[in-house]
Amino acid sequence: MKDLDRTAIGLDAVWWARRGESPEEVSSRVELPRSATVVVVGAGLTGMSTAVRLAQQGIEPLVIEARRVGSGTSGRTNAKVSLLQGSLVQGIRRAAGAEAASAYVTANREGQAWLLELAQARGVEVQTHTAVTYAVTPSGERKVRDELSAVQAAGLDAQPLVEHDLPFAVRSAISLEDQAQVDPLALVRALREELESLGGRVVEGVRVTGLNWRRPWRLETEAGAVRCERVVLATQTPILDRTLDFARLTGERSYVLAYEADLSRVPHSMSLSLDKRTRSLRTAPATAAGESDLLLVGGNGHTVGARISTRACIDDLDQWAREYLEVGELRWAWSAQDYRAAGAMPRIGPVPGTDEALFVATGYNKWGLTNAPAAAHIITADIMGSPLPYAGAFRGNTSSIRGVADAAKHNARVAAHLAGDRARLALPKDIAHGEGRVTGNPLTPTAVAEVDRGRCAVSAVCTHLGGVLSWNDAEQTWDCPLHASRFTMEGAVIEGPATRPLGRREE
Ligand SMILES: Cc1cc2nc3c(=O)[nH]c(=O)nc-3n(C[C@H](O)[C@H](O)[C@H](O)COP(=O)(O)OP(=O)(O)OC[C@H]3O[C@@H](n4cnc5c(N)ncnc54)[C@H](O)[C@@H]3O)c2cc1C
Repeated sequence: MKDLDRTAIGLDAVWWARRGESPEEVSSRVELPRSATVVVVGAGLTGMSTAVRLAQQGIEPLVIEARRVGSGTSGRTNAKVSLLQGSLVQGIRRAAGAEAASAYVTANREGQAWLLELAQARGVEVQTHTAVTYAVTPSGERKVRDELSAVQAAGLDAQPLVEHDLPFAVRSAISLEDQAQVDPLALVRALREELESLGGRVVEGVRVTGLNWRRPWRLETEAGAVRCERVVLATQTPILDRTLDFARLTGERSYVLAYEADLSRVPHSMSLSLDKRTRSLRTAPATAAGESDLLLVGGNGHTVGARISTRACIDDLDQWAREYLEVGELRWAWSAQDYRAAGAMPRIGPVPGTDEALFVATGYNKWGLTNAPAAAHIITADIMGSPLPYAGAFRGNTSSIRGVADAAKHNARVAAHLAGDRARLALPKDIAHGEGRVTGNPLTPTAVAEVDRGRCAVSAVCTHLGGVLSWNDAEQTWDCPLHASRFTMEGAVIEGPATRPLGRREE
């Protein structure tokens, strides 16, 4: 396989790169208030939608964000705001039944309508497209057929699609009209404007590190403690282990490549394949003079920290795009992660035993653009004391047989990693440029990497629950195969449930 010329492409998501901005640069630092009624932790689509929804009900929430508004997956997503969502509805129906599938579709439909209305009111461009789910293999074809019956039974007007705009042979396809795509950073910034206009506050550049777990609730942060009555953890995977959600979630990383394209010569629909090799397409028209129109090509998802070459995932996607699509120059290639909950249903609602004072929202399975606002509605209604009729379906899914089996499978995989990874340490040999290796004593392994900015040695043990880290050669980071925490080469936390950095080591 031919390797990409990496010097010519950027590794930022197009949404940041087009603005010439970085998700790491916090533009202004606001002092952290010492108390608030409700604190929302995390300023992605979930945190910002929830904060706006609370503010619309007269509560003035405080949002605390470790990095910058939109710097997590929300600023790196494909941002299809669609109710046709791969094979998700059949998965929920199989695991939790037809009623749960209907609850899911209803909640997502309400979330989608609210978010798009707010986007339009705030001047965010919303592009309307048909969403298409298709397959090119027999196993994918079966899934497409099952998804059609699952979504129709759950109340969506999806239809078989005979004439499509995909430039290759398709075995079967279904579609849902009038779905949308957006620039997610514009969206999350519009939510911030809305929040601040209603009296809510956002503090960026402050990481939350813990909670005291009794009333009055006190959140510990890098900038001191904050007392509050309620906390919404909108950190994607919940950062506090006592919620035990990490044991029911699998972090999945996948890739997006942005190509210059003549939009009259590439598919116009927002499509997703249900074959083993998933492929996602959407356009991203130029937003300013001098910009090019783009086609975004996504796919090649895998469990975070899998012992594979992440560069090869990008190369493979690039080869596919060049073989099947009329794409021009590859401008940006990036990846991001989202979480799959055991049993397929997202986990949204209060954490048991906290007297409705602590809430989580996670497990969106790469469909957060509608699940995040759905979570905002569910959590806000709970806090206001008038739960939504479908909220119960989202409160926890390990009671279904499928959910229990999924969680057990996930935890068996975690246990196998815990036992096996330390037995496979590399010898502390020379490391090739761009490479990272785990070496040394199996009880205290060291992660050594050498890239353009230098060579660095840190502890190879994840500060969350002790997983041995894997080198991610595309992004030059250390990723944990257990619960999807990620760290920079120098050991700083990037994302996932970990809140503490990796310790520095001598080689
Ligand atoms: C490649 C890819 C493509 C996708 N495409 C689509 C799509 O087309 N349509 C769709 O509907 N969904 C899509 N998704 C899913 C969607 O993007 C996500 O579900 C959604 O963005 C999650 O939003 P969030 O706010 O929950 O998480 P995030 O956006 O990750 O926000 C969490 C925030 O919490 C902050 N945080 C974390 N820990 C702390 C802490 N300790 N203290 C303070 N702050 C903290 C983070 O910095 C981050 O900003 C995609 C996902 C991926 C990976």
